[in-house]
Amino acid sequence: MDAEELLALKIRLLTQGATLPENEWPGRRGGAGPVGGRYFLLPNGRACGVPVRTGESARIYNSAPLEPTDRKDVWLYDGAVELRMIPRPRFYDLETKEGVPYHKIALLHGESTLATTVFQACRYWSHGTQCKFCTIPMSAHSGDSILEKAPEQISEVVEAAEKEGVISDVLLTTGTPETPDMGAERLVRIIESIRKVSKVPIGVQFEPPSDELMIKRVADAGASAVGIHIESADESVREEMCPGKHQYGPLDLYKRSWQYALDLFGRGNVSTFILHGLGESLEKTLAITDELAEVGVLPVVAPVRPAKGSQLSDYVPTYVGHLDRSLDFYKEVGRILFRHGLDPSRTAAGCHRCGGCTPDQEAYDWAARQ
Ligand code: SF4
Repeated sequence: MDAEELLALKIRLLTQGATLPENEWPGRRGGAGPVGGRYFLLPNGRACGVPVRTGESARIYNSAPLEPTDRKDVWLYDGAVELRMIPRPRFYDLETKEGVPYHKIALLHGESTLATTVFQACRYWSHGTQCKFCTIPMSAHSGDSILEKAPEQISEVVEAAEKEGVISDVLLTTGTPETPDMGAERLVRIIESIRKVSKVPIGVQFEPPSDELMIKRVADAGASAVGIHIESADESVREEMCPGKHQYGPLDLYKRSWQYALDLFGRGNVSTFILHGLGESLEKTLAITDELAEVGVLPVVAPVRPAKGSQLSDYVPTYVGHLDRSLDFYKEVGRILFRHGLDPSRTAAGCHRCGGCTPDQEAYDWAARQ
């Protein structure tokens, strides 16, 4: 498979999703980041979090079947492409001495990123101004996770996962509490706890705190990379889709925080999520992507995945039915990343270490071969 075919395959999987045979677990049901997917490895060995669709949704998205074969962990997509399912790690079966199963504390994202939402609630949900695509409280409500994870619980899972040899990095994200640190203090305590037992690269994500020194505290505690997520590069979409977050954080605050973080973490180790498919202007999105990449902020451009429990559960993203347009769009993203020398695979930690939700890496690889 050449670079163009791989890029097209990943975009197709991320935007159309796939149907799985009945009785297959459809993936986690809530939390931060895209949910409702299963991780597979593409023929290039990179992860893809494939949205699992059923019934009417599968028809709308034109999802092709993904079926097991008689070879262990090998699945066949649309009757033609072999994908490898990432096996369930053994540490999921362990539990803390209080009896909390490890899989309720942290999960494997992609092949080797241990990810956890350290605080599974957000002030914008209490205010009724949550981001419309968000499902952060769902996994705690459903019992799949716990509301708040103690630093010692997380470092215990990190130790077990490292012992099993299945992780290369850790990703910590959080809902935003009512405090001005935006949850960063909690992250500092967790990073410090992990650093007592491990040197694993750690990526953290939070909203821009009003006091930039908080970002330095996170760096000093031992974080390797930081994600400060704007969510959309189109201000009118950000205002509509993320009312609370938009009201709190003007674009200027993000720009100041990224620049401050760049001085601490370096080019390519500061990232921001930019969702695709919310009706945004693609021209504006590419212009901001270019601006960000030029200064060294790594954009995580990713198709939005409407999830049950979010306000967008029945929303049909604007990319649906426009595969060619999506391919052109991501090729331009790839050209931008390549032009500014931002190879996603070189980030120390964060979403791009897994890369399962975004075709950025495949777009970069495609551009590098032109
Ligand atoms: S800031 Fe938005 S996406 Fe993040 S946890 Fe809060 S409501 Fe969800």
